Amino acid sequence: MARYTGPVCKLCRREGQKLFLKGQKCYTDKCPIDRRAYPPGQHGPAQARRRKQSDYAVQLREKQKVKRIYGLAERQFRSLFEYANHIPGVTGDNLLVALESRLDNIVFRMGFAQSRNQARQLVRHRHVEVNGGVVDVPSFRVSQGDEISVKAKSKKLVAIESALEARTRPKLPEWLALDDKQRVGRMVRAPMRTDIDSSIQEQLIVELYSK
Ligand code: SF4
Repeated sequence: MARYTGPVCKLCRREGQKLFLKGQKCYTDKCPIDRRAYPPGQHGPAQARRRKQSDYAVQLREKQKVKRIYGLAERQFRSLFEYANHIPGVTGDNLLVALESRLDNIVFRMGFAQSRNQARQLVRHRHVEVNGGVVDVPSFRVSQGDEISVKAKSKKLVAIESALEARTRPKLPEWLALDDKQRVGRMVRAPMRTDIDSSIQEQLIVELYSK
């Protein structure tokens, strides 16, 4: 599936806010948003000065922002939305919970990787186990009680060691437990909307896809 492989800082600049796509580096390196707080490209500064955005543009930008935070392609994001729309509950909440429950996100949240991109690679390269068996599908949906661990042979991987050493932010969410020495964690309960970034306006995404 086509995936954006260009400079991720451009994505933050396009959305006009820090999405922390480079993980820990976002806290240590200089952030382009601080110096150039306008969209990338020749017309970026002009776009930043443009009049008020339409409702559609606001909804589209919110969807793009969330899609970029979690590193999903449009088709994956859309199918996750369809799933969220068909299960009981509030669609927007369901969507965010489904995004948080992805294996790559949990590997990142546990601090085994410095970014979701790196977490996806760890999963793809078969370094991660769920309940004792290797799972190499980043979109795998983790359930309450599942144990996530780094494969025995991969526990000393430099990438994982340095990610855990640098692990000052983000904090481990309450719905996860971690034994970082053993490289093993567990989803102690399913994530809830209140556990997830409150700045995300998921109802805009629901409105966009409901047109
Ligand atoms: Fe975004 Fe991080 Fe780049 Fe800043 S340094 S623009 S937060 S990816």
